[in-house]
Amino acid sequence: MSQPETSLMNRLVALCKRRGFVYPASEIYGGLNGFWDFGPLGTQLKNNIRDAWWRAMVECPPVGPDGEIVSIVGVDTSIIQHPKTWEASGHVGGFSDPMQTCRQCKKLFRADHVPDMLKEAEWVESLANALKMASADALNLRPLATNQVVFDGVAARDWAQKKGKKLAPGLALVRNAAVTLSWIDEDIRATPQRRFSFDEILSYMATGQKNQTGLQTPCPNCGGDLTEPRQFNLMFESQVGAVQNEDSKVYLRPETAQGIFLQYKNVLDTSRVKPPFGIAQIGKSFRNEVTPRNFIFRTREFEQMEMEFFVPPEDGMKWYEFWVAERLRWWKEMGLSESSLYRHDIGDGDRAFYSAATADIEYKYPFTDPGFGELEGVAYRTDYDLKQHQTFSKVNLEYMDQENNRRYLPHVIEPASGLTRGVLALLCEAYQYDESRASPEWLKLKPSLAPIKAGIFPLVNKDGMPEIAEKLYQDLRRSYVCQYDAKQSIGKRYARMDEAGTPFCITIDGETVKDSNVTIRNRDTAQQERVALDKVKPYLDEKIG
Ligand code: ATP
Repeated sequence: MSQPETSLMNRLVALCKRRGFVYPASEIYGGLNGFWDFGPLGTQLKNNIRDAWWRAMVECPPVGPDGEIVSIVGVDTSIIQHPKTWEASGHVGGFSDPMQTCRQCKKLFRADHVPDMLKEAEWVESLANALKMASADALNLRPLATNQVVFDGVAARDWAQKKGKKLAPGLALVRNAAVTLSWIDEDIRATPQRRFSFDEILSYMATGQKNQTGLQTPCPNCGGDLTEPRQFNLMFESQVGAVQNEDSKVYLRPETAQGIFLQYKNVLDTSRVKPPFGIAQIGKSFRNEVTPRNFIFRTREFEQMEMEFFVPPEDGMKWYEFWVAERLRWWKEMGLSESSLYRHDIGDGDRAFYSAATADIEYKYPFTDPGFGELEGVAYRTDYDLKQHQTFSKVNLEYMDQENNRRYLPHVIEPASGLTRGVLALLCEAYQYDESRASPEWLKLKPSLAPIKAGIFPLVNKDGMPEIAEKLYQDLRRSYVCQYDAKQSIGKRYARMDEAGTPFCITIDGETVKDSNVTIRNRDTAQQERVALDKVKPYLDEKIG
């Protein structure tokens, strides 16, 4: 089947805007980078995912590895907490990404993103092509004689004077080709046996003051000089109270988890829980991300669904494995396909130092395909957080195990997922394109997650049909989100519902007036069947579940 020219992501973003799933925040003022608003359908979809998570975690948790029903309670803690919280958790000081700024174009980059961005940069590809044209072997420079290499300085200069001017104006080669090329020449003369990689050549071409700064990585945007990486704190700051000074400084939480640790003792003392047990929370988190990108994948304000599971230290690994498997199972149940999900076990060197094991549950987003990107992280955090808060607050946070007469700090397993990122994954998965349908773009959302469960349409707005349709609407909306629509052709009404991901459309036609049967159209098959009016509700009960 032919696919349209525009990329899948662009089409999805356009559909989300058109149908009221997601809008750019502050759009009438030109938008605000890293912020998005959920529209009527998006809010409903997000709430449905949120409710499904809460149900699977708090209201109806799974059976654990020992066959006992897991015990999890919910909390809703403040976005702003005592500033010491973030010192204890390591977020003040630690929660920052090394950043580089371009001295030429002033753009800011996460240092660890620069190599990937360079690979994708248009000017790098164009320069590589220019050099390749100069010599088939240009990417692996070879000295031919003492002062000659298979690197065509003329081709490089030519590129700098034409394409380079537009694509990478900050590149030293573009600003001063003669000087830059002479550096390369000198180095080759000094060490004739030396081989250069393309990255090294790039560094040469970017460096304005070689003697002072040495070789360096160029700016992915303009080719200019990048500053040394500097720490950049990702937490948003605010002030509490009327007097504003260092003491009144507070932070918007960068994760919901810490609020749970702060209330762990209260929950233990006031609910009938004991390890192993969990505390769950859903709410907004804020990170002043340096490079927010990919629609709602990485934003500066987002929602998380996190659960801290407290266990006796010796049971940590058993529960860790349980939760990784359980969380993968849940995302599949929500509709993500097996082949689009990946369990990424984080190696010893790449984990947070306090974590005994971490696995990311990754999804194949259109912008990571054929690779995967994080959707949820499951981390075995040992007793790190409780220990830190115990030290900083000087409050004993140990659990007294009466049965075994021992005190201990529980170990913690944390499944932490992004709710807004989950909305994106489920929208990507649901997006379908089929030119043979009235609406080529449609969303195959799991019926229980779909924002609208049924569209109710009188075929024409007369002859007794609207009365029957309205009555059905009044009945069904008590159980399901329904939409009543009497305007436009029936085909157009189906198409609108397909784009919204509505699994069922119920049409009341001339026959209904006579025999009390309606037509129910199935979104996925576009097939229609006749169902008795009084059987519509049981029909939906069975299909939506
Ligand atoms: P990344 O490496 O992508 O920055 P992270 O490993 O820092 O993410 P965690 O701190 O483990 O993320 O947060 C748990 C979950 O919260 C992530 O798996 C993701 O779904 C979600 N999340 C984190 N940062 C963002 C963000 N900026 N925008 C949207 N969702 C986010």
